Amino acid sequence: KNQLAERVKALTPSSTLAITAKAKELKAQGHDIIGLGAGEPDFNTPQHILDAAAASMNEGQTKYTPSAGLPTLIKEIAEKFKRDQGIDYSAKEILVANGAKHALYTLFQVILNEGDEVIIPTPYWVSYPEQVKLADGVPVYIDGLEKNDFKITPEQLAGAITERTKAVIINSPSNPTGMLYTEDELLALGKVCLEKGILIVSDEIYEKLVYGEHKHVSIAQLSPELKEQTIIINGVSKSHSMTGWRIGYAAGNKEIIEAMTNLASHSTSNPTTTAQFATIAAYSGTQEPVEQMRVAFEERLNIIYDKLVAIPGFSCVKPQGAFYFYPNVKEAANLSGYENVDQFVEGLLEEALVAVIPGSGFGTPDNIRLSYATSLEQLEAAVERMHQFVVSKM
Ligand code: PLP
Repeated sequence: KNQLAERVKALTPSSTLAITAKAKELKAQGHDIIGLGAGEPDFNTPQHILDAAAASMNEGQTKYTPSAGLPTLIKEIAEKFKRDQGIDYSAKEILVANGAKHALYTLFQVILNEGDEVIIPTPYWVSYPEQVKLADGVPVYIDGLEKNDFKITPEQLAGAITERTKAVIINSPSNPTGMLYTEDELLALGKVCLEKGILIVSDEIYEKLVYGEHKHVSIAQLSPELKEQTIIINGVSKSHSMTGWRIGYAAGNKEIIEAMTNLASHSTSNPTTTAQFATIAAYSGTQEPVEQMRVAFEERLNIIYDKLVAIPGFSCVKPQGAFYFYPNVKEAANLSGYENVDQFVEGLLEEALVAVIPGSGFGTPDNIRLSYATSLEQLEAAVERMHQFVVSKM
């Protein structure tokens, strides 16, 4: 007898797993694989953060904390919002969670009833649809068209809204595309959300990783009405290279935050105490390492981008943030004799020994995602291998 609940029967494992597992297997067999699948910065957590975490443990700070997080940490997060976005949040409008992913999970659990729709622009981060479904919600996709830098328009948004629409997800800078919405674009989308009364879930986890003249703007900072209509999701995973510490947070409407806190009190109790102390140091201490990492990513982006688009059949809008390239490689797949990009990705892994993530998992099967959270040396070698691979098959 199948013991599993209906809820998880349709749950699919992260699409990035299959290729990563295969890459690992090939590596274990002694093949020299270059992995461009990483979703995390390749730097260590800055030393002053490690020191603060160790000091807190040695001082005996190893017990439960309030479910919404340590008051000192909440204060630091509120100050961060004031400093970076100019938004005032009270302590009751902030919840610290076990990573941004868990903040999102908890949010969907408390806002969705069965059948409620959440609008998800494609290409999307793989966990959004699964989290919505786990809360009995229904993902509704709108195409962020490549010719519009993968961004959705207010017309598309308005056209997708029904009586069942509860929220729309905005992820800027975006994983997987690296695109950012401008202030004007956010105002136009926000206008539609306010008119129709739908919530905005603004995933700002890549806020600190923006390049060139591009600027991160939060939709919540654009007016008091938009602040009230938006739940911001953010954290220190990508900004401070703290993916394993599992600290993220949500900020927004008091009632929603209170419900999320209640749910957390029965599920996780609180985010790990030591990690919370580390995050206090991350926000109260120097931001110099954050900027150093950003500069390193930007250097890689600029060097690798030109080489990437020089590969026959590759086209790519230049990323403005995050640490991914999201080229369209349909033509390269065809030139190399493959029917589709999924097969091309397999060929790249088996013959060029480069692991990339197929776009099918992000809702756009003609693209691939390459992470530049790896050394310049590895990136240059990987791009060279891909170039040779395509040329050799033409
Ligand atoms: N949101 C996006 C768009 C992400 O890419 C990620 C991590 O890959 C997360 C949220 C989750 O971040 P965290 O590690 O804080 O859970």
